[in-house]
Amino acid sequence: MRFRSFTGAAHFCYTHINVKILFCSSEVTPYAKTGGLADVSSALPAELNRQGIDCEVIMPLYGSVRSMDLPLEHVTDLSFLCGSGMLHAQIFRYGIVNFIENTLFFKRDGVYTYAGDDYPDNLERFSFFSRACAEYLLHRRDIDIIHCNDWQTALVPAYIREMGIEDISSLFTIHNLAYQGSYHPSLWNILMLPRDYYSPEYLEFFGRINVLKAGLIFSDGVNTVSPTYAREIQTPEFGAGLDGLLRSISFKLSGITNGIDIEAWNPSSDPLIASQFSITDLSGKEDCKTHLQNLFNLTPGNKPLFGMIGRLVEQKGIDLVLSSARDMVNLGCQVVILGNGDPTYEKKLAEITRVYRDNIGSHIGFDETLAHAIEAGSDFFLMPSRFEPCGLNQMISMRLGTIPIVTAVGGLKDTVVAYQEGEHPWGLRVKRPTTEALLTTVRTAHTLYTSRPDLLRQLRINAMAQDVSWTCSAQRYAELYTNLKDFKERTR
Ligand code: ADP
Repeated sequence: MRFRSFTGAAHFCYTHINVKILFCSSEVTPYAKTGGLADVSSALPAELNRQGIDCEVIMPLYGSVRSMDLPLEHVTDLSFLCGSGMLHAQIFRYGIVNFIENTLFFKRDGVYTYAGDDYPDNLERFSFFSRACAEYLLHRRDIDIIHCNDWQTALVPAYIREMGIEDISSLFTIHNLAYQGSYHPSLWNILMLPRDYYSPEYLEFFGRINVLKAGLIFSDGVNTVSPTYAREIQTPEFGAGLDGLLRSISFKLSGITNGIDIEAWNPSSDPLIASQFSITDLSGKEDCKTHLQNLFNLTPGNKPLFGMIGRLVEQKGIDLVLSSARDMVNLGCQVVILGNGDPTYEKKLAEITRVYRDNIGSHIGFDETLAHAIEAGSDFFLMPSRFEPCGLNQMISMRLGTIPIVTAVGGLKDTVVAYQEGEHPWGLRVKRPTTEALLTTVRTAHTLYTSRPDLLRQLRINAMAQDVSWTCSAQRYAELYTNLKDFKERTR
């Protein structure tokens, strides 16, 4: 088959591999989601299976899963020593997803937090989960590759090694280096790892336990979610203190750009948007915009509408958007923001919305339906991130004909060709993560909207023409899995 890459170059994808993957994640759509990891954990395994690669998923059985009332099939029970003594896990299964049940750790409303604060026993919860995944491998014996994701599952490769499991390869994916699982050394015993691993060569990091380091050190392969981010994290600017370690493992470190679920985000069939539209008939997008203006009680009319969705944290540049908001309104723009996170930004956002309520709308919380309405109804999508491992929202925007406004970092650099930067562009670039640079780009967007409607329409069409599916990226994972399996077989 033939696919277009982000650069527009054509290349081929082949699938001839015989590996069995267990994809280990702390969040998976639709069972539990706080961010992009959940989307990746459902869409990548689904695409691998579609391409004929056997991939199962394993995640905790949170309260949110229980309340879905799924017809879960009981698979097995596991008992093992963990930090606080002998612990028990029940494994259930639904479709390709295995769920690990321990009511003490997972029968809660939140995934990581309650009322904005981390659960105090997160180290215990996720070392239990990681240990249970490793124990489950002993039960299964048919798995070739365990694919771990972020710090919550970074201990799995260490446990595999300690348990003497030698025939299974491990891949560790960094979805965001900013979250490393940093804990006080007094909690070391929870990990059930040898004491001498609490040293700078292993899991110690400036006097604290660093769980993520286990994934980097003990995995057979490490990757991150875009080629640019894979390079960036090896520099002091983006390495979050781990750039030295990452450079030292560069021989096993690569970057594979995420895709999105193009069926969940399909403007021509999405039941969650006001009016369907497509690359050949964009008229429904206007209805979506009117619907969005109505949802947030914005003044109806012909102003450029800028959407933003995501965690309200400094990484995403929400502070830059908030400090630009007044100027944007004065320029004649409208803004709609959906998100939650840092209470300071939540409060500021609520205040600004109150002052400029005719032109700024916001919702603080997590709301899938609203996310679809914003992606479909906005003219432009704001992502002035300070760093961005991959970012999914810019690709979702592209799929829905909404022009992404992005900085030149990580996956935003790899997935967006910006106006005046290349042929057939579909985005706008913010040169630096500053308020001034953001406002400069917003002015360009405003001018395009008011004076160059034909060019804007062409950018939308270019955006919608990009292949943002998982097809080719899943193929790259398949190649990586094959290489890891071959290497293991050769070196055993
Ligand atoms: P992150 O750094 O949070 O993983 P991504 O852009 O990679 O950022 O992915 C975020 C995903 O979560 C996207 O699918 C986005 O639409 C969704 N999302 C984030 N915040 C919200 C929210 N408040 N409500 C609904 N969806 C959200």
